[in-house]
Amino acid sequence: MVRAPIPVPNHWCPEAADIAALGVGYLGQARNHTYTNCANVGIYHLTVKLFRLGWPKEGRSGLLDLGYDLHLPWIKCETCNRTWGDGMIEYPALQFDFLVREEFNDDRIVNATEFKHICARLESALGRRMMFVPGASMGILSGNAATPKLGDFVWGRHIYPQISRRARDLLAQDGVALQTAEASIRFRGRLVESHLAIQAEPAALLTPESRRSESISHCSSCNDFRSPPRKRDHVRRLVAVSARWPVGHHLVIVLETLDLVASSEFMDSVRRHSLSGIEFEECGEIVP
Ligand SMILES: [Zn+2]
Repeated sequence: MVRAPIPVPNHWCPEAADIAALGVGYLGQARNHTYTNCANVGIYHLTVKLFRLGWPKEGRSGLLDLGYDLHLPWIKCETCNRTWGDGMIEYPALQFDFLVREEFNDDRIVNATEFKHICARLESALGRRMMFVPGASMGILSGNAATPKLGDFVWGRHIYPQISRRARDLLAQDGVALQTAEASIRFRGRLVESHLAIQAEPAALLTPESRRSESISHCSSCNDFRSPPRKRDHVRRLVAVSARWPVGHHLVIVLETLDLVASSEFMDSVRRHSLSGIEFEECGEIVP
């Protein structure tokens, strides 16, 4: 297990070590940790655990069938010679008039320079920086539900859950503001108004050592992360860098592995309100 040695004054308590190690934005993260106190030198070894979101086995079957009409184009990279895109990443909160199917579809293939221009156009409309993945799904999330009575979190997609307005509001009361968007989920043709799409943004979080240990390669021209197919029973242990966590976000996609990981504020709030339809699995740790 990788541990980050954090020098703190002798009189500081372990909670103070959290602040020294991770900064104010990561105070909550530090609650999921273990310490080894090297008393002689006043150093605490701090391990902040990383958790990914999962879909509980109960109630999985056929509740929702959701998808997207719009996609970012795929990329053909002249450096690594790969042509690739990933529709599993999704941006349901991107809903601009200029996003039309003729231009934003996954049959279209562009080069790295063209893709950068498309990203710049989207960022200009958004008014902020964002990481975009070729082939990603975008626009209104739509599809059908097998029942109008859906729980707090429901899963109509592989990586991302959808969330009830009620759960969204409870989380917001605890200061956990999620990025959500109106969706078009229908039961027998009628709009199910209770649920929203979640947008969690991708970020390359892993340390170089962690990428190496998972045999993940990277092309810096097209930002493609590739790993060989996982062997059965292989459990990933990811080491994420706290400084790479997008500030103010509580759900983040680990770009290298497509795991959806949560801040501890998010987990605390989910547990406090006993929200249904979600489970957390430890998958590694966060280091300063
Ligand atoms: Zn490339």
